[in-house]
Amino acid sequence: MHSTTNNDIDRTLGFTIPDRHARGRIARLGPVLDTILAAHAYPPAIEALLAEALTLGALIGAALKDPGGQLTLQTQSDGGVVRLLVVDYKGGELRGYVQYDADALAAAPRDPTLFALFGTGYLAITFDLQATSERYQGIVPLDGDTLAQAAESYFLQSEQIPTLIRVGFAKDEDGHCVAGGLLLQHLPEGEDGRERLHVKLDHPEWEHVAALGSTMGSDELADPKLPLETLIWRLFNEESEVRVLGGTPLSRGCRCTPDHIASVLSKFPVEEQREMADADGFIRVDCAFCAQVFPVAVREAAG
Ligand SMILES: [Zn+2]
Repeated sequence: MHSTTNNDIDRTLGFTIPDRHARGRIARLGPVLDTILAAHAYPPAIEALLAEALTLGALIGAALKDPGGQLTLQTQSDGGVVRLLVVDYKGGELRGYVQYDADALAAAPRDPTLFALFGTGYLAITFDLQATSERYQGIVPLDGDTLAQAAESYFLQSEQIPTLIRVGFAKDEDGHCVAGGLLLQHLPEGEDGRERLHVKLDHPEWEHVAALGSTMGSDELADPKLPLETLIWRLFNEESEVRVLGGTPLSRGCRCTPDHIASVLSKFPVEEQREMADADGFIRVDCAFCAQVFPVAVREAAG
């Protein structure tokens, strides 16, 4: 059997460590990453950045209990290379893209820092819950070394949950990308959503779990031959109990089907649709996520 068939790829796997009041999730992205990155000819630094953001999207999004809920990560920045980074996750489907200034990137160091990429930047993390139509958003500054650090800050500041996140990214000689991520959280008062009045970051059980989690190598996370269960086992095999929860398969998903675009456009009055259309009577709708253009015929008034 060819070895690649054994690869553990394009899924997330959750787990809990009950005695430590910790929960975690591991994600690994392969073909789904190649598909999303292939929509644009990104330079290496932008490719690695979007891979990190997509991995975060999978790690955080897979925690949504509402199956129709959506997680969105979006940056706002000024004075750096990146104009806009957007990633979203819904029911295992991921998509994302980056708009950047090619001249600014050419002038930046070969391996640019987060500050070089974003200048003064912020990361907005938004949860849209379908079941209740509620929206939660937290915004944190991009003042650390990585996007993952900004996400850790979000959980601590907005949700009072101590969080550790590690992300690894690799590209093999055939040009295939693999990214992996680990997320660990401490929930000493359970997961019932109660307000936490105080957070003790130096809680011994969290210190223990975070110390183990921080030994996870980025190369292990991005090695598709290492099953996700093996990574959890390597970290936590001395714990009295680790419960592995269900996994979620990941796929590239976009909502830019011709039907969806036609239904969005149909909400505009016909006169406005005509103004948007070209000489052929088609509105050309560009999906920034997958870099495709969809021509949609102007809806003519029924009578
Ligand atoms: Zn699309």
